[in-house]
Amino acid sequence: IWGADRAGISLGVVVREYASLSHLYKQYFGFPGEILMRMLKLVILPLIISSMITGVAALDSEVSGKIGLRAVVYYFSTTIIAVVLGIILVMTIKPGVSQTAEHIDRAGTPPNVTTYKTKRKELEPEKLPVNSSTVPPLTTTIMTVMENITKDYKIVGTYSDGINVLGLIVFCVAFGLVIGKMGEKGRILLDFFDALNEATMKLVQIIMCYMPVGILFLIAAKIIEVEDWEIFRKMGLYMVTVLSGLAIHATVCLPLIFFVIVRKNPYTFTLGMAQALVTALMISSSSATLPVTFRCAEENNCIDKRITRFVLPVGATINMDGTALYEAVAAIFIAQLNDYALDVGQIVTISITATVASIGAAGVPNAGLVTMVIVLTAVGLPASDVTLIVAVDWLLDRFRTMINVLGDAYGAGIVQKLSKRELERMDLTSDMDVANP
Ligand code: ASP
Repeated sequence: IWGADRAGISLGVVVREYASLSHLYKQYFGFPGEILMRMLKLVILPLIISSMITGVAALDSEVSGKIGLRAVVYYFSTTIIAVVLGIILVMTIKPGVSQTAEHIDRAGTPPNVTTYKTKRKELEPEKLPVNSSTVPPLTTTIMTVMENITKDYKIVGTYSDGINVLGLIVFCVAFGLVIGKMGEKGRILLDFFDALNEATMKLVQIIMCYMPVGILFLIAAKIIEVEDWEIFRKMGLYMVTVLSGLAIHATVCLPLIFFVIVRKNPYTFTLGMAQALVTALMISSSSATLPVTFRCAEENNCIDKRITRFVLPVGATINMDGTALYEAVAAIFIAQLNDYALDVGQIVTISITATVASIGAAGVPNAGLVTMVIVLTAVGLPASDVTLIVAVDWLLDRFRTMINVLGDAYGAGIVQKLSKRELERMDLTSDMDVANP
């Protein structure tokens, strides 16, 4: 895979330089990459259903409750750490303040002639923010979550975006708990879902053989497609802020927590997840990366299936440290561009809403950009200002997805360590069952 990404970059640069492809040919060129995306998305549904149901049914309800609670505590605390880190960085680097604000002027006005801020004030006075801070009431958040859970299942579809993953997870947990309590009859169902899981993982294995080709073309096609490379120079400092936040979270914060709890080398663990991380980087979707995350966590990092089946699918949907960090940085960056001073209350509001927005974001490309609106409106910034950061989102999305996946994997490792005693007790009970059938 490492070779594939470099080959993809080279191929993209060469084709971009020497061939001017029509829109249709660009589509053909992106086709092998698109096939990879679709194949991965295709296996998400059977994978989530089979892994969650067997995962929950294999644990007794007391143990699954404990594991679930540990996972949720981990998800929340690491997400908050990511948000705080992002806020510290963006307040220190100030990518949206003064001359950097001029850089973002897309009309190409030279610096010192008209600053971005004054231009915005002249052009869009009605869009200037009102100095108010409103945290959405808890009931609204609960209602939104409930709506997300109960909205129609569109299970017949190849895209993960078409599946109501959150609803599916809730259903699978409930179904798994019921099956676990059904005795002998439940066993038949459990065997069925176990076999489904095995078959799906076999499919994943086959897809992995195609991975290098798909990744090569995904990258090459993107390089050909990007029209305005100049925008990266203009948005440089903002991107540096987000990327350094993600890097610090991935190489310092998460490894430190892992080391303190698990007492193993976190970087070896990260290395074990390399294939999943590269996949996330290439396809910007933690849900579509799930099949690879499972494989890396179970095969390379030897995490118990009873843990991965439970922690990874839920994590891919609600645990998004990278997204939360990005949303906090982006919101404050936009405030800086607007010359809008944030008070402490508003910064706290941003941290809360960025956390909520990351939980609400689906594990699909650009989901974080959409839920950004929650953060912006909560502090009185115009929701339409997300357009300011759209141009570079496809790139940042890749990196934050990578951190989202890494966070889920570390979570599985940590929860496994914390649940060691329960797992051993279960092993002992099943050994006794075998000895005295
Ligand atoms: N693409 C991200 C993910 O799948 C979500 C986001 O847009 O932040 O994890």
